[in-house]
Amino acid sequence: MPDKNRKAFPKGTTPREVAEDLGQELSKAALAAEYEGELVDLSYPLDADGEIKILTFESEEGREIYWHSTAHVMASAVVELCPETKVAIGPATAEGFYYDFDRPQPFTPEDLEKIEEKMRQIIDGGHPFVRKEVSRQEATDYFRERGEIYKVEILSELPPEETVSLYSHGDFVDLCRGPHLPSTDKIGAFKLLKVAGAYWRGSEKNKMLQRIYGVSFPSQGELDGYLERLEEAKKRDHRLLGAKLDYFSIHEQAGAGLVMWHPKGALVRNLIEEHWKREHFRGGYELVYSPHIAKLDLWKTSGHVDFYGENMYSPMEVEGAKYQLRPMNCPFHILIYKSRVRSYRELPLRWAELGTVYRYERSGVLHGLLRVRGFTQDDAHIFCRPDQVKEEIERVFDFSIKLLEDFGFDKLACLLSTRPEKSVGEEKSWEMATEALRETLDNSGLPYKIDEGAGVFYGPKIDLDIEDSLGRRWQCTTIQFDFNLPERFDLRYTDSDGHQKTPFMIHRALLGSLERFFGILLEHYSGALPFWLSPVQVVVISITDQQEPYAREVREQLLQAGLRAELDARSEKVGYKIREAEEQKIPYMLIIGKKEVENQNVAVRVHGKGDLGARGLEELINNLKEVQEKKVGY
Ligand SMILES: [Zn+2]
Ligand SMILES: [Zn+2]
Repeated sequence: MPDKNRKAFPKGTTPREVAEDLGQELSKAALAAEYEGELVDLSYPLDADGEIKILTFESEEGREIYWHSTAHVMASAVVELCPETKVAIGPATAEGFYYDFDRPQPFTPEDLEKIEEKMRQIIDGGHPFVRKEVSRQEATDYFRERGEIYKVEILSELPPEETVSLYSHGDFVDLCRGPHLPSTDKIGAFKLLKVAGAYWRGSEKNKMLQRIYGVSFPSQGELDGYLERLEEAKKRDHRLLGAKLDYFSIHEQAGAGLVMWHPKGALVRNLIEEHWKREHFRGGYELVYSPHIAKLDLWKTSGHVDFYGENMYSPMEVEGAKYQLRPMNCPFHILIYKSRVRSYRELPLRWAELGTVYRYERSGVLHGLLRVRGFTQDDAHIFCRPDQVKEEIERVFDFSIKLLEDFGFDKLACLLSTRPEKSVGEEKSWEMATEALRETLDNSGLPYKIDEGAGVFYGPKIDLDIEDSLGRRWQCTTIQFDFNLPERFDLRYTDSDGHQKTPFMIHRALLGSLERFFGILLEHYSGALPFWLSPVQVVVISITDQQEPYAREVREQLLQAGLRAELDARSEKVGYKIREAEEQKIPYMLIIGKKEVENQNVAVRVHGKGDLGARGLEELINNLKEVQEKKVGY
C-alpha cells in the first residue's frame, strides 16, 4: 500500500476487492488502480505480489481516467445521434477531455445540447466498461467493417503480432489501452464546453476534424466551481487585456507570433527588465549581449541543427555562407568563454542576457503572448568547477524564488528530472549534478516531484511551476545542467594542479520569456498590476477647470517624487473620468475639487477598493513610495 502497509490477499483478487477491504469510503471513491506502476481497471485480477494504489478523483491519474471515460461516453452519444460520424481519438487533457470527430456537418450549439442529453441517458444506464483483448487483425477487421478509418490507421502502425485492447460500454466499442471507470454511472456532472477544428494527428497536411471539448466532475458543485473559474479566466484573457489596456498587439501584416510592444506595455517590460538586471548584478551575475544571427556552422557544432532543427527557421545566405537566426543564446556565451584561456580562479562565471530568440512554432499552436515565434528569454549560463556545483545550484535556486516572489508568485511547485536512458556525459557528473539538485530541493522545504528518467539527454534539471490566482500552473523557471555543449565546444579551464579540465555548465531561465511572463502576469492580476509595475500609478482628476492649476501642481509633485502620474483635466464629468481610470486599472485616483484646493489636500480613490477620503499630499507620497518599495499590491 502507499502507506507502506502490507496485506495478504488470495491470488486473483481485484483492486475493487482490495478497496472494499480498505474501507467503504475508499471503495466508493475508487475509480481504477495503479498496480506495480501500471494503471489497471478495478476488475483487473492481481496475480502476483506487488504495490497497489487505489486511484480516486483526488489524484491526477484518477482524474484522467475519469475524464477519458467521459470522452468515451461522449463518442458513443455522438455515434448514436449521428451514425455517419467517424471517431478519431479522445484523450484526457490537464483540464478535462476532448474527442475528435470526422463529420461533414459542423456541430452546432444545439447539437452539443442533444449530445449532452444522450450522454446523460448513457450515464444513467450504468453500463459497465468492459475490456477485451484481441489480435491486431481482429480489431482491424472490426473497425474496417464499420468504416472507422482512423482506428484502422492507428492499428496499422502497431506490430502485426500485437494484442490490443478494446473497451466497450453498451454497444459502443473503442480501441483503447485503458483503464476505465467500472461503469458509466460513476460519472457525476459533466459539460461540453466548445467545438474547435483540429487536424488529424496535428498536421495541416491531414484532414481537419471537429474537436469537442468537455469536462466532468463527481458532483454538480465541483462542476459549477470549475465553470465559474473558467468564466473568470476568460475575463482575464491577456489578449483582451492587452488590447484594452493598450499594452501590445500582434499583426497579420507582420506575421503570426510576432509581438509589438506599445508604449505602456514597453514601460512595464522595461520595469521588469530593470529590476531583473539590478537583481542579477546584486546576485553576482555579469551581463552580456550577443547577436541574433550566426553562421549555420556554429549551430552544427552546438548540435542544434541535428537536435533542434525542426524549431529553427531556414538559414539565409550572406556572401556565400549560410547564417541562422538564433533559437538559443548558449553558443554565444560559450564563444565568450572561449575568447581566452580560463583559470580555475575565475570560476564561477555567471553570464546573463535578455536574449531574443526565434523559434518555429506551428501557426495552430500560437497563442497571444503565451506561445510566440520571437521572444526574449531571461537567460543565463553558469560555468563552474565541480567543487562549486552545490553552492551554485543553491544560489541560483534561491535567486529564482526571490525573483518570482518579487512579482507576487509565492506558490511554487518543483519538478526534478533525472537521467534518461539515452544521454551523454559521465555517470559521475550526472550523479553529482542530480544530487546537488535534489539536496537543494530538500533544503528548500518546497514540495517537489521526481520524474525519473525524464531529464533531457544532456543533463538533469529542475523546473519550477508558479501557481496563479486562479490556481493554474505555469512553468517558468528551468535550471539545467549541460554535459553536452562543453564537450562539443571543448571548453576548458586550467585547474590549480595545472591540468586542463572541463567546467560544469548550467543553463537557466527564471521568468522564461518576457512575452510569456507578461501574459501570465496580466492574467494573474487580471490586468491590475501591482503598484511598482503599473505604467500609470496615479491619475490626478480635476472636477472643473477651476481646479486645473492645483491638479497640475499635484501631478508635478508626484512626478518629482519619482512616481508615474498623469493628469486628467478634460472637461468630462468626474464620474466618467473615474470610470475610465478604473477600467484602465490605474491604482490611485486623486480627485481634486473645490474643497481639496481650499484644504490643499487630495481625495484618494483606490482601484477596486473605493474611496479612502482626504489625505495630505506629502503623507500620501510617502505611503506610495513604501508600497512601491514593498512590491506587493497597491
Ligand atoms: Zn479509453
Ligand atoms: Zn543555454
